[in-house]
Amino acid sequence: MPISEDFKSRLYPVANQLVEHYGTPFHIYDEVGIRQTGEQLKQAFSHLAGFREYYAVKALPNPRILQLMAEMGFGFDCSSIAEVLQSRQVGARGEDIMFTSNNTNQLEFETALADGGCILNLDDISLIDKVKDFPELICFRYNPGPRRSGNVIIGNPVEAKYGVSYEQIIDAYRQAKQRGARRFGLHTMVASNELDYTYIVETARMVLDIVEMVSNELHIRFEFVNIGGGFGIPYRPEEKPLDLAAMSREMGDIFTAFKAKQGYVPKMYMESGRYMTGPHGCLVTRAINHKNIYRNYIGVDACMSSLMRPGMYDAYHHIEVIGKENEPADQIYDIVGSLCENNDKFAIQRQFPRIEEGDILAIHDTGAHGHSMGFQYNARLRPQELLLKADGTVELIRRAETLEDYFATLNFNADHFSPSRS
Ligand SMILES: *Cc1c(COP(=O)(O)O)cnc(C)c1O
Repeated sequence: MPISEDFKSRLYPVANQLVEHYGTPFHIYDEVGIRQTGEQLKQAFSHLAGFREYYAVKALPNPRILQLMAEMGFGFDCSSIAEVLQSRQVGARGEDIMFTSNNTNQLEFETALADGGCILNLDDISLIDKVKDFPELICFRYNPGPRRSGNVIIGNPVEAKYGVSYEQIIDAYRQAKQRGARRFGLHTMVASNELDYTYIVETARMVLDIVEMVSNELHIRFEFVNIGGGFGIPYRPEEKPLDLAAMSREMGDIFTAFKAKQGYVPKMYMESGRYMTGPHGCLVTRAINHKNIYRNYIGVDACMSSLMRPGMYDAYHHIEVIGKENEPADQIYDIVGSLCENNDKFAIQRQFPRIEEGDILAIHDTGAHGHSMGFQYNARLRPQELLLKADGTVELIRRAETLEDYFATLNFNADHFSPSRS
């Protein structure tokens, strides 16, 4: 179940007009779908005290999208200076921002803590002494190591560079307390694109177990736990969506049990990126070449600069030829971009209806980790982004990159320096 029939019914009938008006390629995002998913998330977890989604900005860092998140009452999960600044630009302040970086530098700490601050989520015990003005509210990212098996994108926790180990976690909070912290949270992120809800329930159980252990040892209360992102979406037609209802029910039981033992419950935060926007975006591109050698290739006018996931993770993105949804898929093609890299393929040996030059293809589920993961290798530029609004109008929310953008970093006053060699 890739993009919804609803999104298709809003997009496909107007796709040709959009292509004519804006040119190809473009990512287009669906406001109605994003809001629906946001409301579903709020609804599903409304029984958990103080539930809040912190949208993972890196998934789709566009101010118009972040504005939608702010309107739904969401906070922002940031891991870089630019992400913090973008979140503040749409009005986020203080505890609306959770800063989860790793291998953090001083400028990042300073920016995160300036201008109203944020919830600082430290990635390592050695960073405690490196934060100059230690905040009253502190969080640590927990890495369970061998206590948990990993998943494909994020890897085995033992090999993951993130977080504080089990052996260090009590000490981390003890040292934070010594530095003046009075309010505490615990964070983890152990999955990415997980479709098995029980794995996420286990994550909630795991963070509450750690909270209990640390609380008992140090006599502190935790204001919140953050179970991270990693909620999966069905990229393949045969995959089923995450069972949100079962997940929220089972999580409710875990929090209730915690309350019975500890006499209180921490608030539950999460930071979904993909789940919030992934299925509400499409990359629209035009077939421009057809090449028949050992395999049959369709060349399109987008490439990896617009969407890295297939080349980087071998990820599946469903593709439809707009207007040919009901034609028999009796051809086998590789759908390729123009990069000098053979992994620049959106589909490999996949069945399609016959594709003619000029046909418009919709590459599904590009609303998260799509445009934002794009790059400029081979001087291939990143495309424009459009927002399909609830009233049916369309807004250009990022223009396409130009050659001037590409050359911009070469326009400067040369700096000559002669190192002394005495
Ligand atoms: C990337 C990331 C997320 C979002 O992950 P999704 O798979 O998009 O939900 C959330 N939290 C942290 C710390 C991340 O690095």
